[in-house]
Amino acid sequence: MTRDSLPDFYPPRARIAVLTTEPVGVLDYLAPEGGVRQGQLVLAPLGPRRVLGMVWGEGVGDFDLAKLRAVARVLDAEPFRRGFVEFLTRAADYTLTPPPLMLRMATRAPDLDQPPAARRVIVPAGDPPSRMTEARERVMQVVADHGGASFAPSELAQLAGVGVSVVKGLVTAGTLAEIEAPRDVPYPQLDPNLPGKALDAEQQAAADSLRQAVRSRAYGTTLLRGVTGSGKTEVYLEAVAECLRAGRQALVLLPEIALSAEFLDRVEARFGNRPGEWHSGITRTERRRLWHMAGRGEVGLVVGARSALFLPFRDLGLIVVDEEHDSSYKQEDVVFYSARDMAVLRASISGAQVVLASATPSLESWVNAASGKYARLDLRSRYGEAELPDMAAIDLRAEDLPSGKWISPTLAKAVEARLARGEQSLLFLNRRGFAPVTVCRACGQQIACHQCDARMVEHRFQNRLVCHQCGETRPIPAACPSCGVEGKLAPIGPGVERIAEEVAARFPGAKATVLSSDLFGSARALKETVAEIANGETDIIIGTQIVAKGHNFPRLTLVGVIDADLGLQGADMRAAERSFQLMRQVAGRAGRQAGDRPGVALLQTYQPEHPVIRAILSGQDEAFWDAEAAGRQATAMPPFGRLAGVILSHPDLAVVSDFARHLAANAQVLRDAGAELWGPAPAPIARIRGRHRVRLLIHAPRQAAVQAAIADWLAPVKLPTNLRLSIDIDPQSF
Ligand code: ADP
Ligand code: ZN
Repeated sequence: MTRDSLPDFYPPRARIAVLTTEPVGVLDYLAPEGGVRQGQLVLAPLGPRRVLGMVWGEGVGDFDLAKLRAVARVLDAEPFRRGFVEFLTRAADYTLTPPPLMLRMATRAPDLDQPPAARRVIVPAGDPPSRMTEARERVMQVVADHGGASFAPSELAQLAGVGVSVVKGLVTAGTLAEIEAPRDVPYPQLDPNLPGKALDAEQQAAADSLRQAVRSRAYGTTLLRGVTGSGKTEVYLEAVAECLRAGRQALVLLPEIALSAEFLDRVEARFGNRPGEWHSGITRTERRRLWHMAGRGEVGLVVGARSALFLPFRDLGLIVVDEEHDSSYKQEDVVFYSARDMAVLRASISGAQVVLASATPSLESWVNAASGKYARLDLRSRYGEAELPDMAAIDLRAEDLPSGKWISPTLAKAVEARLARGEQSLLFLNRRGFAPVTVCRACGQQIACHQCDARMVEHRFQNRLVCHQCGETRPIPAACPSCGVEGKLAPIGPGVERIAEEVAARFPGAKATVLSSDLFGSARALKETVAEIANGETDIIIGTQIVAKGHNFPRLTLVGVIDADLGLQGADMRAAERSFQLMRQVAGRAGRQAGDRPGVALLQTYQPEHPVIRAILSGQDEAFWDAEAAGRQATAMPPFGRLAGVILSHPDLAVVSDFARHLAANAQVLRDAGAELWGPAPAPIARIRGRHRVRLLIHAPRQAAVQAAIADWLAPVKLPTNLRLSIDIDPQSF
């Protein structure tokens, strides 16, 4: 019997401990008639309410059986496996998250307390209606896009962005039908034995190595490093195939929902059916279905955002973290965790393989591969005829660039050449909106957010000022809010919208598209625009960092980085690493497929001799990482030393500052554990939504038991009213 299949039965009327989702912890209850297993989900009474809980083990308290309350109901869900419970426990320990919050992460499916009753869904039924409208077409498109899934009428209407009457109309017309369908149906099987693409020698060797690792059914992590377009996806899909052949489940994490459309198509082409999808854009029905099917082992492959790691997979054999360097894998809200690290933890518990794929690995993964902790596979060249782009700097000191303009004559000439040949250009600037700063020329004040330590950013397309921290917006005022003088407000510096304005003036005949996350109301709208660009329906793309992520634009042959110096400043030790990754990724968008159309990437900079710019231009990525690693090692910074942040926030700066100083003055237990305490200092965002934020940083050697020391340190602390404390193990910025 394997460790995971041994159920723990508790006889009726025995005491059991239940971990509740309310922040209470583990409580003792009376087991229900018929017994329960460890890992089973139950509803348990708590005060006047019933809360979701999980059977934890034997009761521990010293209670009179007659006085214990009984579990109210055992839920109709697969019990969590021991390996999964262990993962949740260890993830809670590592991130210093209260276990009840961790359980809540693992039970984020709607209606868990509802039985899988039948429900009414819409299915295709007949010919197109005699009268086709745009709204009706949208509905039919959604139906066509989601072969396997069925939707309730309201869900379908919502996905199509139409009123539910449009759906009903199509039912009346006989094009669609409304039927009773069972809930939570298994996903169609993926066929791992369909032929994949013929791999080249380097890809083949990498795929063989991953297949063998998957067959071992043991834990291991591999850094799959390869330039953009080298076929990393093709290679790790072979590992997925092997995992499916072994009868185990696979999970592919992607950093961006907009990317999943292309990926889903590739999975369908490779395995004959679409995988399960898990991200914020799926419907409640799909969410519930996927959660249950993951637990029952009836979905072979899941593609998802970071939170998919907390699905109760029955037997996970492979986790792929694509674009593993991406900062969206770090969650910094309620539960602070890095999906990359949690993937490794989860795999090490369940005997699974992890593949970390990237053209520009995180320094952490690079160091782990260098030390032999992770295996490393390299794909050195682009697949087929496609060449890596030529890289060059445009030295802005030598360009004739009038103030208020950002496209240099050299860059403009390169764009013109692409326009003449019918090729695409991408102008990259990692700044949303029209201008990052609005200043009053009368009094010199900049317009700031009332609630945050941030400037208001002009978004001209929306005709509003927007705070990028809290999201608050207001109309662009005619008069200065500080001095009241009218007509003196001026935008300073460029955002993508301003570059678009310059493009329109400079290349009047060209079709331009701005790609910036705030300009799209839905993930679907963004996907559509990305598809249009890929089809060549635009000449010039002006984009923020969302264009850097994995999109495949075959006709794109020029990338112009408007401000290559943007990310190089700042106190953050990770600035160089991030800047390097972003520019390398953006440059990688050029000339991905076109054998006869090699790509060019041009970097506008005032400091062409900066080490990051030089590393990008020379293509000596390994030397760059080694130098970065050496710098971190010399200062014992991550990943050579450890950091943990304690972030305190309160509406009153004096309260939060006093409390932070009090904590710092009582930190002997940290020093006893070999750690030092830095701060208090303003947190990276010093005020947000009216709350002042102060951070204490704990720095420790790698081996130090930091979590235990922090827990001891904070255990006796009583928080002042309305003061919030959160703990960020391995913070992103330092
Ligand atoms: P990466 O994930 O490294 O960016 P992809 O796997 O997306 O690379 O491959 C880039 C492009 O090259 C894709 O369009 C892919 O289908 C194609 N490609 C890669 N390897 C092969 C192969 N062996 N045969 C055919 N096409 C391939
Ligand atoms: Zn704000």
